[in-house]
Formats: sequence, structure tokens, C-alpha cells
Amino acid sequence: MNIATSAPADIAARRAQVAAALQQALPARAILSEPEDTRPYECDGLAAYRQLPMIVVLPDSEEQVIAVLRVCREMNVPIVPRGAGTGLSGGAMPIADGVVLSTARLNRIVRMDAYSRTAVVQPGVRNLAISEAAAQHGLYYAPDPSSQIACTIGGNVAENSGGVHCLKYGLTVHNVLRVRMVTLDGDVVELGGESLDAPGLDLLSVFIGSEGMLGIVTEVTVKLVPKPATARVIMASFNEVTAGCHAVAALIAAGIIPAGLEMMDQTSSRMVEPFVKAGYDTEAAAILLCEADGTVEEVEEEIARMSAVLNTAGASAIAVSQSEAERLKFWSGRKNAFPAAGRISPDYYCMDGTIPRKRLGQVLEGIAQMETKYGLRCANVFHAGDGNLHPLILFNANIPDEFERAEAFGAEILALCVEVGGTITGEHGVGIEKINSMCAQFAPAELDAFFSVKRAFDPAGLLNPDKAIPTLNRCAEFGKMRVSGGMLPFSHLPRF
Ligand SMILES: Cc1cc2nc3c(=O)[nH]c(=O)nc-3n(C[C@H](O)[C@H](O)[C@H](O)COP(=O)(O)OP(=O)(O)OC[C@H]3O[C@@H](n4cnc5c(N)ncnc54)[C@H](O)[C@@H]3O)c2cc1C
Repeated sequence: MNIATSAPADIAARRAQVAAALQQALPARAILSEPEDTRPYECDGLAAYRQLPMIVVLPDSEEQVIAVLRVCREMNVPIVPRGAGTGLSGGAMPIADGVVLSTARLNRIVRMDAYSRTAVVQPGVRNLAISEAAAQHGLYYAPDPSSQIACTIGGNVAENSGGVHCLKYGLTVHNVLRVRMVTLDGDVVELGGESLDAPGLDLLSVFIGSEGMLGIVTEVTVKLVPKPATARVIMASFNEVTAGCHAVAALIAAGIIPAGLEMMDQTSSRMVEPFVKAGYDTEAAAILLCEADGTVEEVEEEIARMSAVLNTAGASAIAVSQSEAERLKFWSGRKNAFPAAGRISPDYYCMDGTIPRKRLGQVLEGIAQMETKYGLRCANVFHAGDGNLHPLILFNANIPDEFERAEAFGAEILALCVEVGGTITGEHGVGIEKINSMCAQFAPAELDAFFSVKRAFDPAGLLNPDKAIPTLNRCAEFGKMRVSGGMLPFSHLPRF
């Protein structure tokens, strides 16, 4: 689906003007303006929505970022920041008359300090590259999105990304000490500090998860943690999905915080197993992956405690990894679940809602009923310990109305998440994808408060506009079109 806003002729003229201004500030190799060059930037991981940007810039220094922002501010051009483009909610989707600012060339690890257990990195550094560089000191960066081989720390900061180990080690917001960023006016601002608690208002927490709407990240100080001496993972099988869900609640109620606690239903394990050969029990209705890490003694004790809880909760089988290679194999299936969906379906739509853990069973049953209602299959693979669902709705965009049904299915899942006391996003952000759902989750006064924060950082409203926070006009239209308690997918409302 293409989201155009201005006529092509207007854009061509504007492109020439803006490119000329940018050329005064940047080397020619940092500016892409021909459609064949800008095409790779037309979408992020939410590939159902595409838009060619007017121009793409690839600065390689903070000075160049400042220069781009000053030109855009002067010429009133919207800016869309972009890391690796793996985002799943359309946060980095371009605007037809806007500039995409890619951080691909801001990819240096500036400093690695084993004594303070911190690393200072530029925003385009890949998540996994931080841990790879820290490994020589026996350290690593804990938040591990499944996309960590590709996604950047700038994108992680903007989305407050999570991963399978975030239950124990926290999300991005818990693992970042300082962010250096450039405001729309070209001012450099540092939020947080190198010590554990920075003075003043906690603007760092406001900024983390702000989806590129408040400023451009140019440097990040992350915490590093010691690599545990050892880790083992349990794969527990359940004959019923709800029993697996109760086991999740039982583990937490027993006072155990596993290093990872993930669930995959049978559709997911059968989708992944032929692809990764992770050793999954494909006969089980659901499997849980529960990791313990620490010293050998700690791990042994926690594995025993978790096994006891899982058995009491009705696990039909329990397998414990016997080597590091087997542990990685168990995780490789989980980490490759999204790409594996491509083996059984031409397209998939990944949802991201969060619910109270005790509601997991109820919501998964609701999703199963929706599969019948919409005539589409759904694979559930998710961060069970955090109550963060990732239903993968399988569809074929070449079949008329399947995409629309997939979107409506996704919107109904989010409505159910809100109904049971949850939220419309866990870690993938709002972007464009869930902007209509924000009207259901928040009251106008709350949205206005969000806009006040946005205005304080970006009074001209040029940084990633029309993402994450819906305008009150959009919500008014949403209110008129809304069907009894449901939510409207993005494609149902135009840009406001
Ligand atoms: C297969 C797959 C698995 C995934 N698994 C997970 C997972 O387990 N957990 C999870 O949380 N997410 C996951 N994601 C989603 C995605 O990888 C994360 O949201 C990630 O943080 C995006 O990083 P990116 O560099 O690709 O950012 P992009 O997609 O390029 O951008 C994401 C947002 O960040 C903004 N942004 C990027 N760089 C900057 C900057 N320097 N300054 C300001 N704003 C900026 C953009 O404008 C956009 O709003 C997955 C995605 C895929 C495709």
C-alpha cells in the first residue's frame, strides 16, 4: 500500500531545491535523491506500507547530522530517522515530501570501558556488534531483540526494544546510561550520564521509546554485564496451551525470574522445526523455553526448582540442554521464528501487544476463535514472562482481501489486549501501524499531554511527524468510524 501526500511534480521541484541546500552542507556521496537509489528505504519491516522518500541522507558525523537538521528546519522539511529499518510498526517509513536520515555510516564503537562496564557507541552500531566487541572483556550487552544481528542501538533506543533476556535484565531503558542527541534546531543535548543516576528530571526515560520524534540520537552509553559462567535452558512441553500459560504464572509466583521465559504454540514449533532443527517437541500444543544463568551451582539449583514447578503445572515432558551448543540450538528456533513464517506463508503480520501474565490463556483462546472468524492462521511465539504477545497472522497478499482481513484480525487482537488490562504495544512501538489504536488506549487529554512533550523538543513538528501519537482529528474520525469496541487498522484512516 502506497501512502502519497503531495503530487509527484511538486515533489520533483521540492527535491531539487532541498538537495541543492543539502549539497552546501554535505558531501555528494551522503545524499541520495534518485528514485532507484532511494527505493531500498521505502519501507521498514512493516513492508505492507511503502513510500518513496524525497531524499535520503547518510551523514557520517554529528556535525553532518546538525547540518541536515538545520537545512530541514529552515526549509520546513519533515525528517524520518532510520537505523537498520527492521522496525515492525512503520516508524522509519518515509514521508513523500520528507528526508530520511540514515545512521548507517554512524557505526563506530567509540569506547569500551571494562572497568566501568560501559560502552560508548554511535547510533548505527548493530546490537549484536556491541556484545561481540565486549566479549574479549567477558562482558555483553543484555537486551537482545531477535533482530539483533541487524538492528541498531539507535533504533533500539527509539523503540525501547526488548528481547528474550529482558525479563531478568531489563529493556533498553534499563541498560542505557546516557544518550547524546541533536534537536531539530541543531543543538546537541546529553540526557542521563555515565553514573548510575543522573541529576535533574529523568528526561532519558522520556526519550527512550520516543520513536524518533524528539531528536536524532548520535551517541549512546550502554551498560555491559558480565557473561554468566554458565546457562542452561529447559524445554517444557504442554498438551494444552492454557496449561503452559498457567505454568508461566506459576514460575513467577514461585519467586523465580528466569533469564528467559518464552512460549511457542504448535503452529510455531512446526513452522520452525524443519527450518532450524532445534529439537522442538512438535507434538506438544505449546512449549516453554525457560533459561537459568549464573554460576554452575546457581543454574543447577534453579533448573531443579523450575522443573518442579513445571511438572506441578502439568508439563508432559521436560528436556534440559546438556551443552552450550544444545542451549543455543533451543534458542535458535525461537530467534528464527519470524523468518521461518516465510516457509509456510507468503506473508505474515507480526502483532505486539502486552497483557497481564494471568490473562495469557484467555487471550490465546480469544486469538484461536479469531482464526476461525477471519479464516486465517496465526502462530503464537512470544515473551511469555513479560506477557508480551507476538501473534504472527499468516496471509497471502495476492489473494483479494486477505491483507484487509489480516489487519482487522490484528486490530481485534489489540482490542482484546486493552480489554484485559494490557497495552497495544510491548516493544515494537506504535509507528504508523498502531496509531489508530492509540485513540482507543488513551483519552484526548492524555494524547494532548504526549503532544506537549513532543512540542517541547520539536515545536515545528518536523521530526517523524504523524507517527506514534495520533492527532485529535484522527481520533475524532476514529470515533466516528469505530465499530463497537473494536480498533481500526492504519489503512482505514488517511493522514491527518
Ligand atoms: C525478525 C525480527 C525480529 C524482531 N525481534 C524483536 C525483538 O525481539 N524485540 C524487539 O524489541 N524488537 C524486535 N524487532 C523489531 C526491531 O528490530 C526493533 O524495533 C529495532 O529496535 C529496530 O532497530 P532498527 O535499527 O532497525 O531501527 P529502524 O527500524 O530503522 O527504526 C526504528 C525507529 O527508530 C527511529 N530511529 C532509528 N534510529 C534513530 C536515531 N539515531 N535517532 C532517533 N530515532 C531513530 C526510527 O525513526 C523509527 O521510528 C524485530 C524485527 C524483526 C524484523
